[in-house]
Amino acid sequence: MSRTAVATIHLSALRANLARVRSLAQGANVMAVIKADGYGHGLERVARTLADADAFGVAAIADGQRLRAAGHRQRIVVLSGPDEAADLAEMRRLKLDAVIHHDAQIAWLEADRDARPLRVWLKIDTGMHRLGFAPHDALAAHARLTALASVDRDIVLMTHFSSSDEFDNAVTAEQIARFEAVAARLPGARCLSNSAGVLGWPAARGDWVRTGGLLYGLSVVDGKCGEDFGFAPAMTLSTRLIAVNRITKGERVGYAGTWTAPADMPVGVVAIGYGDGYPRSAASGTPVLLGERLARIVGRVSMDLVTIDLRDVPDARVGDRAILWGRGLPIETVAAHAGTIAYDLTCGMTRRVLFVED
Ligand code: PLP
Repeated sequence: MSRTAVATIHLSALRANLARVRSLAQGANVMAVIKADGYGHGLERVARTLADADAFGVAAIADGQRLRAAGHRQRIVVLSGPDEAADLAEMRRLKLDAVIHHDAQIAWLEADRDARPLRVWLKIDTGMHRLGFAPHDALAAHARLTALASVDRDIVLMTHFSSSDEFDNAVTAEQIARFEAVAARLPGARCLSNSAGVLGWPAARGDWVRTGGLLYGLSVVDGKCGEDFGFAPAMTLSTRLIAVNRITKGERVGYAGTWTAPADMPVGVVAIGYGDGYPRSAASGTPVLLGERLARIVGRVSMDLVTIDLRDVPDARVGDRAILWGRGLPIETVAAHAGTIAYDLTCGMTRRVLFVED
């Protein structure tokens, strides 16, 4: 048990982050994006904690099933579904909102004889070029949807930004303009912004915002951490120091001996590895927090263990708690050393990690 990596989920941080999103969104409804198991924090846990969100955004119908089973009654938006005609019956049964982004989905709806109402978000591709109708096709798609008796009249118009994390990138302004040009010709609520949109693009707030990262305290802007924007980390990942060894100058550490000791020195062994979801790509130099001080990873991350330079923490002892990210050590710093983003790290936690709440 003492070896176990622990992800502590700070429920008060989740709540405070939602409140901060609400104040930034200035009256817009907030869809809490909780796909990928709540960005790795636990779907049911996050939904229960953020139960007053106006809607939940998920990527899979199975997530909608879990949320309904847990008793959540608000709108649940399947951000890319239905994926096939057979999904429609389950979505109607569970009262899940559909995101309609492709002609094929409209054809399934037209062929569907089920009269139970379905709420729809119409996705318009304004430049991301992932999902959505081209602006010149959106009016026709909307007309086909409104012609269907089983589709709810209040179709929400949505788009998704590719580069809203760069607050001076003209691409987002162009996306907003393309969206507005279509939306001006259609009724319905508007939904444009993800987390970065909420932070940096007030013109895009619309009637709904769809936020994920900020709710978990994750930065959406390169070079910044969530706390720089007033958001608190919702996950602290920690484990224990299980060995302290002395090695001599010139000895190599870890698989393939990629790091060579520049001096006689203490090396600590921390009980976490890529088998827990700690990134194997975390390079030598990645920080690990021991008490108040930072130690640095030396050598390769292995499946169960990482090795750290203890020269700056000479009093470190076996059994000490080591924090890999979270309170005291921004996850964005670790992500930068691992060549990835914070979202990737929290989503990557494996089942071996013990989740606790505080
Ligand atoms: N909307 C859509 C369609 C998404 O795919 C995502 C996440 O990837 C979000 C909103 C939330 O984005 P963020 O976590 O950056 O707020």
